Amino acid sequence: MDVSEVKKICEAESVKYGIASYVDVHGASKGKFVPLNHFGQMFKGSELFTGAALDGVPQDISDDEVAAMPDGAGMMICPWNKELAWFPSDLHLNGTPFEACSRNILKRQLAEAADMGFIFNLGIETEFFVLRPDDQGKPVPYSDRDSMGKPCYDVPIMMDNLPIIDELVQAMTDLGWGVYSFDHEDANGQFEIDFGYSNALTMSDRLIFFRMLANEISRKHGAFASFMPKPFANRTGSGAHYNMSLADINTGKNLFEPSAVTDRYDAGVSELAYYFIGGVLRHAKAISAVVAPTVNSYKRLVRQGSMSGSTWAPVFCCYGNNNRTNMLRIPSAGGRVECRAPDIACNPYLGAALMLAAGLEGIREQIDPGEPHRENMYNYSDADITAAGIECLPKNLSEAIESFAADELAPKVFGDAMFNSFTQFKRAEWESYHNTVSQWELDRYLRLF
Ligand code: GLU
Ligand code: MG
Ligand code: MG
Repeated sequence: MDVSEVKKICEAESVKYGIASYVDVHGASKGKFVPLNHFGQMFKGSELFTGAALDGVPQDISDDEVAAMPDGAGMMICPWNKELAWFPSDLHLNGTPFEACSRNILKRQLAEAADMGFIFNLGIETEFFVLRPDDQGKPVPYSDRDSMGKPCYDVPIMMDNLPIIDELVQAMTDLGWGVYSFDHEDANGQFEIDFGYSNALTMSDRLIFFRMLANEISRKHGAFASFMPKPFANRTGSGAHYNMSLADINTGKNLFEPSAVTDRYDAGVSELAYYFIGGVLRHAKAISAVVAPTVNSYKRLVRQGSMSGSTWAPVFCCYGNNNRTNMLRIPSAGGRVECRAPDIACNPYLGAALMLAAGLEGIREQIDPGEPHRENMYNYSDADITAAGIECLPKNLSEAIESFAADELAPKVFGDAMFNSFTQFKRAEWESYHNTVSQWELDRYLRLF
């Protein structure tokens, strides 16, 4: 969509301001607001930013500013304030794409896939919490009804939350995202909304927008949306499972769809998909630093913790059939691969880029992932797993980021500047956490002797 088409729609919809937006390392939307009569300039890159003002954008304060180039096709009129139109944008530096922009990093990988004849399709499942502060300011579920400890799929509690969730689902539907179901998840105050897959760039733009949308709508109801991966230790965390497939660039045909000949392990995908899985498993630990990018993310990637008995989150770098205890799962309908490691706090552009690059490497090198794991992987200890030649997913952000730093593919995908910046930023995040004395330590050690 070019600027005149965008302007025409915005005039018809009474939009007042466009937001030329791009993301910091966390995948938070940052940008400048531009009046409608300035859209001509905005689409030529008039909006300049100092990358150094943001987390993890590798620029020095003395560097030239980067310009946001809005993507008209990605426009979303903000459902909570229809005077605003949000535009995902690519950063440019002195007229060329800025190497260290998250969206450009994904676009480069998508171009590599296109060179191999593929479109990368992605569906991200959005798990998140809707909470409100109680009288003491403590975060509690919006509904005060108790589910007797088993909130998963709870219908009455979902109905209590409908004023918020229905408004959110309606907004997503009006935006054309194809919502097909939503439910109460396995933690109190936790929800999941599922909508149609699309190419990975559109899906990533949508995830950035979704987090803002869910928050803005919740705030109207005196609540807030939380995308913290694991806010409550005894409950499940919030995943953002990546459902992935490659389509033929010419015909659009799903190339992960199996046939009797190509489904070598009889788990529901084609040979191409098995190679893709092989590549993702090879880089699983580095990928985990990107798709589970916070200190808190690693409190989600554990076996136990939920009062319902399971976290449903992966702990080992392995794959299986329709079995939720693997990092990579082939849902029984087949034709796609679900990676369960990502959490809802991820930067989806970076996550999708590294995941795709690893999958393409698997295809190029025909990496055989071996037999799928059909058994409950939670029954294995770390020692059993190591003895079986399987790696454990990182246990904390430090381990993840050191795996990322040692990975050969990661700098090629991110480019040196973003690779170094991500590594430094995340090491510093770990160090800041590590240098903190927590309540748990005080409770455990203060009066121990
Ligand atoms: N909440 C779980 C996670 O952290 C996933 C539950 C599910 O399979 O939907 O990944
Ligand atoms: Mg779920
Ligand atoms: Mg899932």
